[in-house]
Amino acid sequence: MPRSGTETKPYRGRFAPSPTGPLHFGSMVAAVGSYLDARHHRGEWRLRIEDIDPPREVPGAADGILRTLEAFGLEWDGAVSYQSRRRDRYEAALARLEQLGLLYGCACTRREIPDSGLPGAGGAVYPGICRGGLPPGRTARSLRVRVDDSGIGVHDRLQGHTRQSLREEEGDFIVRRADGLIAYQLAVVVDDAAQRITHVVRGADLLDSTPRQIYLQRLLGLSTPDYLHLPVAVNGAGEKLAKQTRAREVSPEHAGRILRDVLRFLRQRLPESADDATPEELRQWAIAHWDVRAIPAGRALPSPTRYVV
Ligand code: GLU
Repeated sequence: MPRSGTETKPYRGRFAPSPTGPLHFGSMVAAVGSYLDARHHRGEWRLRIEDIDPPREVPGAADGILRTLEAFGLEWDGAVSYQSRRRDRYEAALARLEQLGLLYGCACTRREIPDSGLPGAGGAVYPGICRGGLPPGRTARSLRVRVDDSGIGVHDRLQGHTRQSLREEEGDFIVRRADGLIAYQLAVVVDDAAQRITHVVRGADLLDSTPRQIYLQRLLGLSTPDYLHLPVAVNGAGEKLAKQTRAREVSPEHAGRILRDVLRFLRQRLPESADDATPEELRQWAIAHWDVRAIPAGRALPSPTRYVV
């Protein structure tokens, strides 16, 4: 088995799907990529169901994801963690930010913001309308965390170094939404720390979120994991495969073919007789031969057309 410099370092990775539908080719890339990186480094691989957004959740999707991963032989370590059961942890992090004087209530509706904001990496930049207090007669809807002028650098194992000024590119961002739900940015930071995740491998659509996550880690005194953002699978129109773009569900019946397609998508070497290999043989081969340097850097790659409706 190839050795790499990080092999002696403790490694704990994770896959953190939102149960908004069944796994499709795009989510399998993140699942398999995070799994292989963990197992190649003889690390642990944890599973966290990010079910903190009930309006987007599809009943039964979480169980379906677990069954699909099992059927593909992607076995996780430890118990599955569910964000829906961890609200008190997120509230404790909010209380800490409040203590630090970094939170404020915001009355702005989404529609009010683009009018007054500048276009930024993550959509509209919040221009700080409620930063100094609520406008007269308005009540707070969401909670925002104050950002400062310092730039946040991300060292990504594949995408290289990027830097973002939160003030200029995001503005003070939401940590508790107007509907009372905890924002993804806060939950993911609290959970990666609580689960002692050392390596995050996920889709490059989340690269722009990473500076906000690093910022929250610093405020909360949490350590920053290593990041690896994989190119996301896109359809012919350049859209990320997702429920909204009608991506096909992956079926364990075709596990071998799907694993081969994921490995090809990530430009990994395949065994000579790949077409005859069982899913188990492919998985073992891929763990041994996993090579991050072979993956093309960049945010997106075309999906094989058979996974696109
Ligand atoms: N739950 C997120 C998603 O399914 C992924 C979060 C993460 O990997 O940080 O897109």
